[in-house]
Amino acid sequence: MSDCIFCKIVAAEIKADIVFENERLLAFHDVRPRAPVHVLIIPKRHIATLDDLSGDDCLLAGELVLAAQKVARHTDIAEKGFRTVINCRADAGQEVFHLHLHVMGGRHLHWPPG
Ligand code: 5GP
Ligand code: ZN
Repeated sequence: MSDCIFCKIVAAEIKADIVFENERLLAFHDVRPRAPVHVLIIPKRHIATLDDLSGDDCLLAGELVLAAQKVARHTDIAEKGFRTVINCRADAGQEVFHLHLHVMGGRHLHWPPG
């Protein structure tokens, strides 16, 4: 998608502080971190929202979750704890319509979120 900011990060047209990458996924630090550690994991393929995943994406969805574990360990928040979030569409406050999983930690995170 030519006008998608995360596709531009995948294409290296916009810089990002990359944490982890493989053929299908890219993880990078959120530009406006809401916690000491705040990383976004995205599929390299443009998928707008969680609700746009299909049964064919089972492997990708599983990889996305396991990548969160990898990011949490790499950023040293796995043991104390961390939160993963996928906002889907307007009521959840999704701002960027390219599927992404937030990995947040490094401080106590309140529950429930607002
Ligand atoms: P959402 O609200 O859609 O779940 O989260 C989008 C996230 O993307 C926000 O936390 C926002 O700070 C982050 N973000 C938006 N634009 C950029 C960007 O250009 N680079 C990076 N690294 N993060 C971005
Ligand atoms: Zn995209």
